[in-house]
Amino acid sequence: APGLYLVATPIGNLEDISLRALRILRSADRIACEDTRQTIKLLNHFDIKTPTVSYHIHNERERAEELVSALKGGARIAVVSDAGMPGIADPGEEIVRVAAAAGIPVFPVPGANAVLSALTASGMPSERFAFHGFLPSKPGERRTALETLLAEMRSTAAPATQIFYETPHRIVEALADVTAVFGPAHAVTVARELTKLHEEFLRGPVSQVHATLATRENVRGEMVLLLSGVLAAEDLAKVSVTEAVRLLIKSGL
Ligand code: SAM
Repeated sequence: APGLYLVATPIGNLEDISLRALRILRSADRIACEDTRQTIKLLNHFDIKTPTVSYHIHNERERAEELVSALKGGARIAVVSDAGMPGIADPGEEIVRVAAAAGIPVFPVPGANAVLSALTASGMPSERFAFHGFLPSKPGERRTALETLLAEMRSTAAPATQIFYETPHRIVEALADVTAVFGPAHAVTVARELTKLHEEFLRGPVSQVHATLATRENVRGEMVLLLSGVLAAEDLAKVSVTEAVRLLIKSGL
């Protein structure tokens, strides 16, 4: 059917593309890509010849208008980002908004995504989670963001598991800040190189995960940082007695 297709692409392992994604990429009139060079590698791998057009944060607004006029003419347009679900810390949101406002059908074509892959394999509660994208890169701002987050979590009865995207050159600093703000015993998971050859999960108290990564000569690869929603015992004074007991049981104290 004509419309806008948000197509997930692999975050590492190329086998993580769905049969439906391949069929849609093959039969679309055009593929709007975050970076055409990146997507062309994927298309070549699967021998897909559909024309590509660039669609990224710098041309998102005007390109969305162009694409929507093609969509109004009955085109089938696929949107992809460099990896994972378009629109998750990647371009996609703007075109969906413009297309939906113009009455064009929008079809999600789900697949690989770093947040959900990291969360489900972390072992942390997944019933409630909050995804924040990237932490601020400036140390002062990152510290403030974590302090604000902790204050918000303290005022919530059952805080969610907190998820961030992080870069290899900032992860050690970020873990040092989490240690300072949440305390050394706070449980974290770092999910690195998901679906790739060197996939790794570091689970444990933040001080320990920090020490492990800080002693490595260099930390490489893409990664997701998860913080437990369970706060330290001293934070329990801020919540009701029943809630405090529930949290203590949950944290195994
Ligand atoms: N749209 C993507 C998705 O659905 O997951 C996310 C794009 S965002 C620009 C890129 C960030 O996602 C990376 O810096 C990293 O934090 C995370 N990421 C992407 N692929 C990953 C992987 N294979 N392993 C761990 N983290 C990954």
